[in-house]
Amino acid sequence: MTVKRLSPEELLGLNKFAVDEEDAHIVLDKFICAGCQEKTCLVVCPAVLYTLKDGEINFDYAGCLECGTCRVVCKNKGIVKWNYPRGTFGVNFRYG
Ligand code: SF4
Ligand code: SF4
Repeated sequence: MTVKRLSPEELLGLNKFAVDEEDAHIVLDKFICAGCQEKTCLVVCPAVLYTLKDGEINFDYAGCLECGTCRVVCKNKGIVKWNYPRGTFGVNFRYG
């Protein structure tokens, strides 16, 4: 049996997301983030949901893998809300 090796992008693309448009499960304070020098969130999110646009943190919770890494590494408390998505919402992991 041959096993095809998938790229990280291909593996992430297997997942399905039920996005809760009415209740973001992660919320940032843009003023705190603007003053954050480290911006560690930019390098730790496995889904690359934190990006820098015109010097500001840009974030979209829609593809969140619910790993919690951003919450752990954010030392400046710019993440003012981090919950798991409400029931029936969020990531649905699919393998292979
Ligand atoms: S919980 Fe994980 S996947 Fe979701 S935004 Fe934070 S680091 Fe990214
Ligand atoms: S989310 Fe946390 S680590 Fe990222 S810019 Fe805001 S304060 Fe800094």
